[in-house]
Amino acid sequence: MNLPPPESATPRWTRQHWLLAGLSALLGTALIAIVPGFANAIRVSAAETRPAMLSLALPLPPVSAADQSRLGIGWQFVRVHSGQTLGAVFGQLGLSATLMQRLLDASTAKTALIRLHEGQELAFELDGKGQLRTLQFDQGAEQRVSLSVEGSAIHERIDTRPVEHRVEIAAGTISSSLYADGARAGLSSGAINDMANIFKYDIDFVEDVRDGDTFQVVYEELWRDGQRSGSGDIIGATFNNRGKHYTAFRFERGGKTEYFDETGRPLKKALMRIPIEFARLSSTFGMRNHPVLGRMRMHKGVDYAAPTGTPIMAAGDGRVKFVGWKNGYGRCVEVDHGQGRSTFYGHMSAWGKEKIGQHVDQGNVIGYVGMTGLATGPHLHYEFRVNGTQVNPLTVTMPKPEPLVGAEFLRFRATTAPAVAKLLLAEKNIRVAVR
Ligand SMILES: [Zn+2]
Repeated sequence: MNLPPPESATPRWTRQHWLLAGLSALLGTALIAIVPGFANAIRVSAAETRPAMLSLALPLPPVSAADQSRLGIGWQFVRVHSGQTLGAVFGQLGLSATLMQRLLDASTAKTALIRLHEGQELAFELDGKGQLRTLQFDQGAEQRVSLSVEGSAIHERIDTRPVEHRVEIAAGTISSSLYADGARAGLSSGAINDMANIFKYDIDFVEDVRDGDTFQVVYEELWRDGQRSGSGDIIGATFNNRGKHYTAFRFERGGKTEYFDETGRPLKKALMRIPIEFARLSSTFGMRNHPVLGRMRMHKGVDYAAPTGTPIMAAGDGRVKFVGWKNGYGRCVEVDHGQGRSTFYGHMSAWGKEKIGQHVDQGNVIGYVGMTGLATGPHLHYEFRVNGTQVNPLTVTMPKPEPLVGAEFLRFRATTAPAVAKLLLAEKNIRVAVR
């Protein structure tokens, strides 16, 4: 089996805008030794994942017309339709029910053959007379089964195809949008979403991101048989936003995966600054001419314009204090977060499932954007209250979560060191490239 070429040929980022703040100063240069040979590879599979690939020798790649022509005319590929049975597939290929039964009897993977699902792929190798030589199919995500017919005997072979986690690095500069520039850097939309989610406590990706902001992401991709089969987690990332340097590293504690900055402080705050994704800040906190009433009035919250039905999340863990209708605010919800803090959400088109007194977790959907009450268009009116008094949620100092300490912090530094080294080296590369 051929390995795909490493993806190191084309750096996919804009060099000249690169900002070099941050990590190097924090972490020193000793870590460079961890990833030798990284020098010219901006987006390359980590070398340590290669041996697993080389040990695989499986003849059947995922099915496509191109694969078929590559493998030769003897192979017939069948993609199972909804409700199609193995018997129907055999009939379609002119193969007998008796042969099918013999194969089923001989196979230890019988269940995988009987319980076909829509989209599943089967490969049949036929000889010149249309007789079956080999049947190949997958058993679960990691096993490929081959049944070979040799006269009256049937031989079964099962090859294990482990899902391989490859470590990749992508880097880019914002010039149009997070999505466009992330995609240009080689990130999947899932990975871009993950990055936005990881940094959302500190960066408002709709309002704060500017041209010239830069990002670097070390992430996993799942591969099988030399083919990308999905995206994994982000392991580490940096984001330079308007001159401020943010870092994030994946770390597991107490069985839960969380993201921490390089000092070991959790990125997840007790309260999200913005309880809605990808909405536009349409009105800030303070005095303004009321859009409906037409006179100057204090605006005691911030407004986020978003399409009707956009989910609204609880900004933090807490208890539902109010669900109901209030004059100007229409359908609204208030969540009590303890220590005198609460958040209030107005103009909803619909409430979530939670009732007054119920516990909500940060990120739970408590309602949907609408324009009930006094509103000129669909938006979320969001208030942050301290002891019942509204304060500006965009400038209020959020309580900082406790950082990792002691042995746990040491474990954090050890487990995140490879990702740190990759980010550091990418920054060094760019510095060399810019010169
Ligand atoms: Zn408002």
